[in-house]
Amino acid sequence: MSKLCLNCETNEAVKYSTYSNGNFCEKKCARAYSTKNDRANISKKVSQTLTGSGNGDVTKNCPTCKKDFTNIYKRRHRQFCSPNCSNNNDAVKEKLSQTKKALANGIINTMTMKEKIAKQEAMRVEQTNLYDSK
Ligand SMILES: [Zn+2]
Ligand SMILES: [Zn+2]
Repeated sequence: MSKLCLNCETNEAVKYSTYSNGNFCEKKCARAYSTKNDRANISKKVSQTLTGSGNGDVTKNCPTCKKDFTNIYKRRHRQFCSPNCSNNNDAVKEKLSQTKKALANGIINTMTMKEKIAKQEAMRVEQTNLYDSK
């Protein structure tokens, strides 16, 4: 039973040499076919990489333990491999203490604001009383 060359699909496939697997009509076709296949594989790989950056897993390097870890796409912004590493990172600790300081300042600010409002309220009440006593 004769079959056609896998590449050109025109000529009969023959075992043209000892290295031939009998799928092609000649060496040229065998080479052309494998190049075509390579290209298909490469473009497949490229599209896989693209989907990887699109919605697949994202591999990152943990800044604390220096290990590679995989984030699912939903958590791709995570920097650390584990909550432990996140808590033990100096940069995060620094940021956290800054946030705490800012928060403390924020509370003080809120208190002064409240004091101001309270003072204004007291003044308003005083004025109202003045009007009432008239
Ligand atoms: Zn051929
Ligand atoms: Zn880690």
